[in-house]
Amino acid sequence: MYDSLIIGGGPAGLTAAIYLARKKMKILLLSPDFGGQTAKAAGIENYPGFEKISGIELIDLMVKQIEDLTVENISEEAKSIEKIEDGFKVVTKAQSYQTKSIIICSGKTHRKLNVPGEDEFVGKGVSYCATCDGPLLKDKTVVIVGGGNSAMDAATEIEKYAQQVFVLSVLPELQCDAILKERFEKSPKGKIIYNAETQEIYGEGLVKGLKYKDQKSGQIIDLPCDGIFVEIGWTPSTDFVKDTIKINQLQEIEVDQNGATSVSGIFAAGDVTNTPFKQIVIAAGDGAKVALSAWKFLITQN
Ligand SMILES: Cc1cc2nc3c(=O)[nH]c(=O)nc-3n(C[C@H](O)[C@H](O)[C@H](O)COP(=O)(O)OP(=O)(O)OC[C@H]3O[C@@H](n4cnc5c(N)ncnc54)[C@H](O)[C@@H]3O)c2cc1C
Repeated sequence: MYDSLIIGGGPAGLTAAIYLARKKMKILLLSPDFGGQTAKAAGIENYPGFEKISGIELIDLMVKQIEDLTVENISEEAKSIEKIEDGFKVVTKAQSYQTKSIIICSGKTHRKLNVPGEDEFVGKGVSYCATCDGPLLKDKTVVIVGGGNSAMDAATEIEKYAQQVFVLSVLPELQCDAILKERFEKSPKGKIIYNAETQEIYGEGLVKGLKYKDQKSGQIIDLPCDGIFVEIGWTPSTDFVKDTIKINQLQEIEVDQNGATSVSGIFAAGDVTNTPFKQIVIAAGDGAKVALSAWKFLITQN
């Protein structure tokens, strides 16, 4: 039986692991990856202590810290949580783990377009990670679907490699920070298409283009391209707990100021919660806070 099982290996989960390992708690970190969204951030300029650092570099430093503290970790996804007599059972595809407390740091996952061809061409030109797949599109024509900060971050990243970058916004205005829009508009490689609703992705083995509806004219327009990045937002990863703890209309886990959820012994931190503002430093701070709340819960139980 673990003292605490941490679900999620992003900045919130890694920070919680550091705190509880230093308290000599018996913990397990369960996550299919390390880094979460932060691993996808090309250049981070707002994490204290670093003027500029890539997401992968920052996560590598956090992972080194948990390795030095010999935190036990398993590359698996939590599928459900069950209450048992003296704690909880966390169930994965392969097995289950018993624990006295749980810290949920499962963050957010990307939204899909849900148009024909999207699933078929994932990994064959359709991607959700510009940092990971941008370098594969050197001198190619690339479409970024979306109009928020994630889309413009992706556009800035892809521009380094591609010959031409289209940003396809379904709205008549971008929803991103003004500075990102200004930078992109100055680029000779960049073009923004507004009021464009993606209808279909097509290809032969690899992506060859997409079709979108011009919402003003109603016309279906063919846009040939070699790569498509879908950047239309993120949704909290709460499917596995939605029947166990209280979540709000945005699918976020509701927590109090200590990070406690509606079930005693289950805590949550970072982007998966209703805490306002989703940022790395906030997720890390939240991870520290809930680790201390879980520790306090554990010492008062024993
Ligand atoms: C492209 C991009 C750029 C960004 N740039 C910045 C920036 O410059 N500055 C900034 O402050 N913020 C930035 N952000 C936001 C920042 O990355 C997030 O706020 C932060 O990563 C949230 O951390 P988290 O640990 O709460 O969740 P996440 O980073 O989402 O991590 C969640 C973790 O949980 C795991 N997980 C999910 N479901 C399960 C499950 N069922 N079982 C086990 N594990 C699970 C995931 O695999 C992942 O490891 C950026 C985000 C993106 C996408």
